[in-house]
Amino acid sequence: MPQQLAVIGAGLMGSGIAQVAAQAGWDVVLRDINADALDRGRRAVEASTAKLVDKGRLSADDREQLLARITTTTELEAAAEADMVVEAVFEQLELKAEVFRELDRLCHEGAVLATNTSAIPITRIAAVTQRPESVVGTHFFSPVPLMALCELVRGLKTSEETLERARSFATGLGKTCIVVNRDVAGFVTTRLICALVMEAVKLYESGVASAEDIDLACRLGFGHAMGPLATTDLTGVDILRDASLNIYAETADEKFHPPELMTRMVTAGDLGRKSGRGFYGYLS
Ligand code: NAD
Repeated sequence: MPQQLAVIGAGLMGSGIAQVAAQAGWDVVLRDINADALDRGRRAVEASTAKLVDKGRLSADDREQLLARITTTTELEAAAEADMVVEAVFEQLELKAEVFRELDRLCHEGAVLATNTSAIPITRIAAVTQRPESVVGTHFFSPVPLMALCELVRGLKTSEETLERARSFATGLGKTCIVVNRDVAGFVTTRLICALVMEAVKLYESGVASAEDIDLACRLGFGHAMGPLATTDLTGVDILRDASLNIYAETADEKFHPPELMTRMVTAGDLGRKSGRGFYGYLS
């Protein structure tokens, strides 16, 4: 019997996680709150897997089987049979807490309850359940089918068994894991990117160098695939600002306080690629 995975949230990350899990042989139920979101999620998987077929990385038959392994639903009850659940709803503590309260009520005792949060401490999410030992962070990266890393995050009460099951899930999906032993806000990866991005924005804001030159410095000087300002445009100026504010709220470390320019950009709607303008302009 294939193992059952429930993915909660059919957005960018949820649909990507559903795709790689179905490719690895899991039976996947993908849950979102409305049919439109589920349609978008399914179309994203169809488009992504069609590209893999074009590139010769997936056969047409395997694609059909992969798609057949993903069912979509608006009913959270569908998670009741799952061996593994990955939550990928919006990055809001209250929303995630609501989802985990329901999962705690619905899921069977042996299920691993994972969250794809980028920055919220796992312990805060786990604390709303009666089984914090079964809650763990599985932080995948976008685009999920292409990015090799999964950051596994222990909450204060995450059991070894839960961590090992999460590791085996992620490695089975072809990912390489790092383990974050204390669930500080931002974990390892979001802390590092926020520290770099906030400093890059400060250098740009104070006229020390142009956006192009700051990005070139990181690409050619450090071998980064993409500069920090281009990365911010891709991820979303609002998303990285919020992530850094969350880290600042917990650490009171000034280096995570978003520069004024970022706040103004968010207010003005310059959110990066998704809005057509960020640190660079994008043609629609
Ligand atoms: P997204 O906005 O693309 O998708 C979120 C989805 O959650 C939406 O489809 C929304 O309808 C759905 N949703 C909202 N409430 C729900 C509920 N109660 N039940 C089920 N679905 C619900 O977001 P995303 O970019 O996929 O991010 C999801 C999570 O992954 C966030 O915690 C984010 O911080 C994290 N993350 C994002 C990235 C990234 O690059 N986008 C990378 C790593 C981690």
